[in-house]
Formats: sequence, C-alpha cells, structure tokens
Amino acid sequence: MSELRCTDPRVGQLLPRYELGMLEDSEREAFLDHLAQCDFCHAELYALEPVTDLLRAKREAALAVRERASRAKRLLWPLHLLAHLERRRVAWAAAILIAASATLVAVLWSRGPEKPPEVTSTAPPQRPSPSGPKSSLSPQEIARLRSAETRTPFESALSAYEKGDFVRAIELLMPIVRLEPENAEAHFYLGASWLQLGRPQEAIGPLRRAVQLSVGVERERSRYHLALAYARAGQREEALRELEMLIAENSVYRRDAEQTRRQLLRSGMVK
Ligand SMILES: [Zn+2]
Repeated sequence: MSELRCTDPRVGQLLPRYELGMLEDSEREAFLDHLAQCDFCHAELYALEPVTDLLRAKREAALAVRERASRAKRLLWPLHLLAHLERRRVAWAAAILIAASATLVAVLWSRGPEKPPEVTSTAPPQRPSPSGPKSSLSPQEIARLRSAETRTPFESALSAYEKGDFVRAIELLMPIVRLEPENAEAHFYLGASWLQLGRPQEAIGPLRRAVQLSVGVERERSRYHLALAYARAGQREEALRELEMLIAENSVYRRDAEQTRRQLLRSGMVK
C-alpha cells in the first residue's frame, strides 16, 4: 500500500485541536468535511483515539469536581483567586482582575433590574458608551496584563507541568509536538508528563524523539528520562543500554545513571 498523505494539510493541521475539542464551530465544520474525504486524517484520528479519550475523561472528571466545589464557593471567588495568584507571585494580575470584576459588578448594579423587552421599540440595542465607567487600570498595568494573556501554548504547558497538572500539560503539548515535530523541549516535557502520570509506555516515544532532536545536557536529560521510562515499562535491556551510554560519555547524569543501573540490576525495578 502506498503511504497515505493528507489531501489538504491546511485543514488537516486542525486535527490535534479537533481531537481536544478546541476548534471553533466553523473550523470544526471544515475539518469534518475534510475528514470525510481524507483517508490520512481519518486514520490518524482513530490511531490516537484511546489516548485522547483518556485525556478527555480525566479532564471532564476534574472539571466536574471543580464545578461542584465552585457552586459552594462562588461568592468567595475573588478572594480565592487573589490567594491563588499571590501564590504564583503575580499579585498585580489579581489586583487588576479584582478591580475589573468590581467595575463590572458596579456597572451591572447601576443598571438595576432588567426590564422586560419592549416589542414596539425600534431603537438599536444600546452600546456601552465610551464615556461610561472607566477602568482604574494604568496603561502599564494593562500592558502587563496583556503580556500574561499572550503566553504561548508552550509556556502554558510548562506552567501546568511546574504546577504538577500533568494532564493539562499533555493536553497542551500533544498539539504542539504534532504541529512542531522538531520541538525537542515539547517532546521532552510530553514524555516527562507521561512518566509523572505513571504511564511509562506512553513516555517512551516522545522521550526517544527528544533524545534524537536535542544536544548536550538537554540530550543527556532526555536520555536519562528515557532510561527511566524503559525501566518502569519493564524494558530492562533498553534501560540498561541508555544508562550505560550516559555513564560512558561521563554525562552530568552519570551518578544518577549509575545509581539507577545498580537498582535495576539488583531488583529488576526502578522507582
Ligand atoms: Zn487530511
């Protein structure tokens, strides 16, 4: 069989975001049209289904828990938000958000109770006038808020990884590695996230790719994590091969590699 190719890569590249339910309605329609006629995308979609199903299920469970909690805590949300953001050392953003929400509340309050719509009215719907309530934000504060909003998906993924939200990190990284297949760091963090979730088998592919794509210390770091993934997946020979390579090239991971190798030889397992 000849190798399949996407018949329209411009639409085909929407696939990762389609899988994660991130497409706008119009994009989704275009993608579904394309899917009906592109064997390549059809095959790709179903190859990844078990993984994305798992991610979606975990995410939905997490959202359901959050939703139940938020119903109880809704009135306190600005305080929780402030506490959360302060922990992230971005209290300025919290101050801005709370100022903004206070402004919004003030606007809604001043409008009073909603009147029933007048059927006879022909006036155009009112737009908020530019001379309406002004935000209390300085231009610098707005600029800083903007820069927080324009974090790249990769930066958001790293932030999720650092917070220990590995499911979120994987959700963000999967589309990145498919759209930027040469992005060594994205492959590394994708593999490391799977490893952290106790899914070493899924970690092996991305970590192997990270080893191929990176150099120097980053390559050694990827190789060490690859060895851990092999060991935890029960692929002892492959794990030993990677560890011995790190030891032989006197890597900065040499001591870790030696320790892991001893552990693997002694018990056949690696923590
Ligand atoms: Zn296609």
